[in-house]
Parts: sequence; C-alpha cells; structure tokens
Amino acid sequence: MTSQHNPYAQLTEQNIYTPGPVKMTDSTLALGSVQTPYFRNAAFSQILLECERGLLRLARAPEGSRVVFLTAAGTAAMEAVVTNLLPPGEAVAVVNGGTFGQRFVDICRVHQRPTLELKVDRDPLTDGQVLSKASHASALLINAHETSVGHQYDLQATGTWCRRQGALHIVDAISLFITDPLDMTSDAIDALVVSSHKGLALPPGLAMVLLSPRALAKVRPSGSYYLDFGAHLRDGERGQTPFTPAVSIVLQLHQRLDQLLSAGIETEWRRASTVASHFRRGIATLPLKPYSTHMPSAMTALEVSAGLNAAQVVETLESQHHCVVAPNGGALRDRVFRVSHMGATNIADMERLLTALKHTLGEKQ
Ligand SMILES: *Cc1c(COP(=O)(O)O)cnc(C)c1O
Repeated sequence: MTSQHNPYAQLTEQNIYTPGPVKMTDSTLALGSVQTPYFRNAAFSQILLECERGLLRLARAPEGSRVVFLTAAGTAAMEAVVTNLLPPGEAVAVVNGGTFGQRFVDICRVHQRPTLELKVDRDPLTDGQVLSKASHASALLINAHETSVGHQYDLQATGTWCRRQGALHIVDAISLFITDPLDMTSDAIDALVVSSHKGLALPPGLAMVLLSPRALAKVRPSGSYYLDFGAHLRDGERGQTPFTPAVSIVLQLHQRLDQLLSAGIETEWRRASTVASHFRRGIATLPLKPYSTHMPSAMTALEVSAGLNAAQVVETLESQHHCVVAPNGGALRDRVFRVSHMGATNIADMERLLTALKHTLGEKQ
C-alpha cells in the first residue's frame, strides 16, 4: 500500500521517540500479523504460564511470586494494586514527583484510602529524609521512574525503608522495566506494575502485576469485578485468565521474553544505556540540557535554553522531520520535552533525531 492510499500514513509513517508506545522489533511486528488464536486450551495455557515464569525471572522475583495479567492500560494495574492490596482504613504514603505520582494520589483518593502525599521535585530519595514523614504508613506507592520528568528514584533506599517500617513496597515500574536494572528481591519490592507498551515494546493493551509472597498474603476482596486479583490468581494457576486476554499481545510477550532470556537481560540494559549515552553526548552542543540528574536509560527529559519553546520544538520535529517526541503538559509545557530510548530504538534512530534537532534548533552541524 502506498502512503497515498494509506489513510493511516500520517500516524504510522513517523519515527517514534515517545515513552509509550515505543518502536517494536521486526519479530514482534511479524507476530502481530497472524490470526488471533482461540485461547481456552492447553497450548495457550502453556504460553501464559511461560510468560509468568519469564516475567518473574526478568524481575528477579522471590520464590513463590505470581503474575496477574490484565487486558488494560497500565493505569488499571495501578488502580488494581490500590484496591486489592491496601486495606481501606490503613494509611498509605505516595511519592508524588510528577504526573504519574499524582495519578497514584488520585487513585488512592477515589478509593478513599487515607493518603499521605510526599511531594518531591527530582529527589532520588536516597537519604530517607522525605520518607521519615511517613512513619505511620502501612504501604509506600512509588513510580520507579517518574516518566513526566525523566527522573529515577532509588528503589534500594525505598525498599530498605519499607522493610524497616514493615510497609508494603508497591512499585510502578512501567517505564523502567526492562531497560534498567531492577531486582524485586534485593529492592524488597512486594508488587511490581509493568505494562506492554513501554520497555517490553509490544502494542498497548496488556498490564501486569508481579506479586511477591508478602503481597499475595495481603490480597483482599477489591470491591471490583474485573480488576479483582482473586479470580485472576485462581485461573492463573492453570495458565488462564477469567476473561478474554489480549491474546495476540500475550503471544508477542512470550516471544519477546524468550529472546530476552536467551540473550540475557544484561543485553537489553546495555542496548538502552548505549543508546541513551549516545543521545546525551549528542545534545551536549545543543541548547538543551537533561532535566534530571538521576535519569534512567529508558528516557531523557530535556529542558530547552531560554528563548526557545519546548512545545514549538516538539511540533517542528514532527511536522518537518517526522520525528515524534513527547511534549510535556502543565507548567513544563514550554520548557521540557521527552525522548524515549525504550524498545527497538538504536543508535541510527538517535542520529536521525539529533540531526533533526540540530536543524530545528538552528545549529550548524
Ligand atoms: C506510561 C505509564 C503508565 C501507564 O499509562 P497508561 O496510559 O495507563 O498505559 C503508568 N505509570 C508510568 C510511570 C508510566 O510511564
């Protein structure tokens, strides 16, 4: 199909550098082109059980951990950890360093959990200062990487704090898994929220919650019909889900996990860090600087120099250079934009974007 006859060309013939969706591998794309199979059978059960084992291995989950597969956006999994793991009367501390921290706060408020909001601005939380205000909390909710500002928290420090407090450590790692090292066991993570369209580089639609034995012991009736862990965990024992799963994405996940596990997860950490470093070296001569000093390999948030407008840069990159980066909202709209290094993104992709940035920002190469 030529682009002339393709009504989706304007959307699909772009180079994407957004933190979800991200560029997918050729094998993921190829598997997406086959018929969706029927799934209430032993063959699919086998696939789903292997996905569960693969995810738990990649996340270095403790023995006896389980995975809940939800056909939904990542936010549904964020909501599900709140309703399924937090007893209504107990205080929960939420780290709020941007849009996604705010989302956890909003979810807790909707579900009337007593919420202690810990407002932070690019604080890695390593020194325990902020957390000391939350001594009565029975759980801590945190985004491993606050995607709105490209900032990574010190999960080792928050995990240590949770263990000392006897609090559940609930981590949204949607934009950190699998580009950056993460270890459920040594970081004492009880529930890990991940989703298909970030580092895993699959289409959006599948959200997963990895639950440690400590979290499994806390699972309570959620008051929700679809997002209830009980039924998902029960059916999951035989490799099934209570309702129709995102069957095609599950197959793509299986293939991706297979590739990641045979190459070794370190290979993906190295790809992401090489690509991110290449990009960050490339912007050194441009009127841009990283917004956070604690960046994951997954993404770079960039602040434009005075006199430039970030929203305008985003617009020009797309309309003139077919490069789609992520704009910021709210107060950062004119100052910050974001570039993802997740998925099948390689050095050549970064070079293309750097060239486009040089033209856009009026620099000679
Ligand atoms: C992308 C993202 C989510 C989920 O977003 P959805 O649009 O619901 O899929 C949640 N948390 C973080 C940190 C994210 O980057």
